[in-house]
Amino acid sequence: MHAFATRTIPLATKHMPELPEVETIRRGLASTLPGRKIVQVDVLRADSIACPSAKLFAKKLLGHRFEEIERRAKYILCRLDREAGLAIHLRMSGRILLVKKKKADKHLRVRIGLDNGQELHFEDMRVFGRLWYVEPGHTFEEVITALSLLGPEPDQITKQSDFHKTLAKRNQAIKTALLDQHLVSGIGNIYADESLYLARIHPMTKAKDLSPKQVKVLVDKSKLVLAKAIELGGSSLRDYRSSDGVNGQYQGQSLVYGRIGEPCTSCKTAIERVKIAGRSSHFCPRCQILKPVHPSIQK
Ligand SMILES: [Zn+2]
Repeated sequence: MHAFATRTIPLATKHMPELPEVETIRRGLASTLPGRKIVQVDVLRADSIACPSAKLFAKKLLGHRFEEIERRAKYILCRLDREAGLAIHLRMSGRILLVKKKKADKHLRVRIGLDNGQELHFEDMRVFGRLWYVEPGHTFEEVITALSLLGPEPDQITKQSDFHKTLAKRNQAIKTALLDQHLVSGIGNIYADESLYLARIHPMTKAKDLSPKQVKVLVDKSKLVLAKAIELGGSSLRDYRSSDGVNGQYQGQSLVYGRIGEPCTSCKTAIERVKIAGRSSHFCPRCQILKPVHPSIQK
């Protein structure tokens, strides 16, 4: 029996969904939605629809069939037949559940009925999440302008030298730069801390002071951290009842994130925390030394 036939797609609501969780949800949807026809659309909260109006959204979406389910950063992009599209962003508290017909949760904002009797529920306590309908012949980027402003995900950084050039223009802390979605997308706070720790880079190091080699290591470690988080997301998906969610799973295995005062796995020094541009940053003061780099030894 298919994993999603009787279960809902789990997603923790205690924290903002990060890229690995969104990717986990995408995979769940991709194994279920393609080929399914939309037979009913109810918008229970107009604010949840970004484009077009709530009324038009329901009318236009009805009758479409799902094709591929893709993802760009934290946007879930559903390709529909007739070259239309449905995009979803969960923002702070959005949840997607694929369920057998059930009573509406009080946070249910949009209900999409499918031709196999299942329903796709979009629940959102804080109502920051959004759905977009993309008209046939238009691209997701045309409707969601933020999409075209996103930097590459670590996996999409093929030319490390280009990324080094981008960072070389930045006078800000590398931690802050990693969280800037225009530079690189998909690295949330927890994954930035973990990547910097594995790359042995102090989070307050200025982005422009990193050597090409450090940038390469950092990109490689980011890929590793995200891949591991996605893998753990998959495992928590199979056994979500005992889990708080994907991030909870990863946090249980984090090396520095949320581990203030605990010994570094490498040198046993106590992990410290510092605020950088308002974000908590966890690091090992011995493995990640903040030192001024002389320009002549950077290369
Ligand atoms: Zn250490």
